Amino acid sequence: MPDPRSIQLPIFSESARFEVSRKLGKTEFACDLSVCHGACCTMPADAGAPILESEIAELERVFPIVKKYLSEESIETIEQTGVWQRERDGSLTIPAIRGRDCIFVTYENDNSGIAFCAIEKAYRASEIEDFPKPISCHLFPIRIYPKKDTFEIVYEKISECKGGRTRGKRERMPLLDFLETPLVRALGEKRIKHLRQAFKIADNKSNKSL
Ligand code: SF4
Repeated sequence: MPDPRSIQLPIFSESARFEVSRKLGKTEFACDLSVCHGACCTMPADAGAPILESEIAELERVFPIVKKYLSEESIETIEQTGVWQRERDGSLTIPAIRGRDCIFVTYENDNSGIAFCAIEKAYRASEIEDFPKPISCHLFPIRIYPKKDTFEIVYEKISECKGGRTRGKRERMPLLDFLETPLVRALGEKRIKHLRQAFKIADNKSNKSL
């Protein structure tokens, strides 16, 4: 499995090529926050969420807007270290507090303990127009990893998402449908259309190229 810290998610050019496991087309998934409590915003990890170089300016732009949703600790951390950091391998990430809570995490006001992204909260409230959240967070539990000449689109099967797998099966929700918006955002409509068509065609290849 590639190291998540090596992830790069360019605004994929027309010429970029991808490999997709057939398993991805068969996976059923729909996040169930009542089970996971938004664990992907707070789970322990070696590094925070990967971001693109182009997203640094977006994060700096939205911080003053989402500040009102953040904890004192998040605000202090951001004011001391900024909204991004460079990892030893050169990749860019969002800092996390004590190796788990994303600095942009916020919580529901209903004592449910459900964590979610303050940027997404502001976006849904129309306080931010064109940046729902970093694309790697938007796509999760799908990750896109650079390989030699291609990118690999992978479903990260983690224990925290068990509720998402159960709900996905119960509702017969394909992962590709559930994450269609971020997939289109990352790869473009044409590629997603192609991907859907490809998964309807039965063949013996273990991978598809977009
Ligand atoms: S990606 Fe997994 S951990 Fe995150 S909200 Fe969905 S089910 Fe929960």
